[in-house]
Amino acid sequence: MNIGILGLGLIGGSLGYDLVNRNHYVWGTSRNPDTCRQAVDRGAACVAHPDWQAIPGSDRADVVVLCGPIATILPTLQAIAPCLSPDTVVTDVASVKSCLCQEAAALHPRFVGGHPMAGGSGQGLAAAVPDLFRDRPWVLTPLPSADRAAVTLLQTLWESLGAKVWELAPAAHDRAVARISHGPVFVSASALVPPHGHETQLASSGFFDTTRIGGGNPQLGRLMAQYNREAVLVTLQENAARLAWAIAAIEQERWDDLEAWLQEAARLRQTYFPT
Ligand code: NAP
Repeated sequence: MNIGILGLGLIGGSLGYDLVNRNHYVWGTSRNPDTCRQAVDRGAACVAHPDWQAIPGSDRADVVVLCGPIATILPTLQAIAPCLSPDTVVTDVASVKSCLCQEAAALHPRFVGGHPMAGGSGQGLAAAVPDLFRDRPWVLTPLPSADRAAVTLLQTLWESLGAKVWELAPAAHDRAVARISHGPVFVSASALVPPHGHETQLASSGFFDTTRIGGGNPQLGRLMAQYNREAVLVTLQENAARLAWAIAAIEQERWDDLEAWLQEAARLRQTYFPT
C-alpha cells in the first residue's frame, strides 16, 4: 500500500519502521529536513520531505496517518483535505477523540479516528522503535456514518503490525482513557516531589514504576487534560476522594479497613493484569 505519515515523532516514526518492514511504500513529513533525512536513513520511511506534495505518489495515497500533537490534527487535515484523493483513507493517532472526529469526518468523509494504546516517555524520531504496537490495543473510533470499508482497511493494516484492534464511540474512548491513561499521568506526577537528603539514592524500582508516566512528555500530558478535560476531571475527583478516604483511615488508625481497601486494590489490579 501507499501510506503517508504526517509527523515523524515517537508514534509516527515507530509506525514508519513497522510499515516499511512490511514492504509498504511509506512516505513521511516533518517540518525539519534533518528529521526527514534521518527517517529515510534509519528505515522509518521510504521517502520523506517537509512538503508532502513534493513527494512522488503522495496524491495517490491509500492511507494517510496524522501523527502530530492533538492540537495539530484538525488544522493539518484542513490544510491537506482539498489536495487528497477522495479515495484516500485518513486516520490519526491522537489520544483524545471526541474533540476531533466529527469535524475531521466533515473535512474528509473517509476519515476514521484512531488511537494506538502504546507509547513511551521519549519524544521525537529518536524515541521511535520498531514493533511498538505488537500485542497492544489500537482503538478505532468510527462515527455511525463512517465508511465501513475504510474501517476494515485500517483494522487489517493495524492487525498486520500485531495490534489488537477495538472499536469504540469517541466519547466512550475518551472516558476509558481518562480512567486508565490520562488521569493516572497526574496521579503519577503528584508522587514526584523534590528529594530530601539521600532520597535520590534510595529510590528504587517501586518509585520508578509509580512515577514513570508522570515523569514523561509534559506537552502530551497537558494536551490530554486540555482536550479530555471533563473526563479527566471526573477521574481525578474520584481519585482525590479515594485518597481522602485513605488519609482519614490512617488518621483514625482504622488498620483493618485500610488493609481491606488495599486488598480490593490488589484484586482490581488482577482484573486488569492477571498473573
Ligand atoms: P512526538 O514524538 O513529540 O512527535 C510529534 C510529531 O508531531 C513530530 O513528528 C513533530 O514533527 C510533529 N509536530 C509537533 N508539533 C507540530 C506542529 N505544531 N505542527 C505540525 N507537526 C508538529 O509525539 P508523539 O508521542 O509521537 O505523539 C504524536 C501523537 O500521538 C499525539 O497526537 C499523541 O496524542 C499520540 N499518542 C502518543 C502516545 C505516546 O505515548 N507518546 C501514545 C499514543 C498516542 P517535527 O519533526 O516537524 O517537529
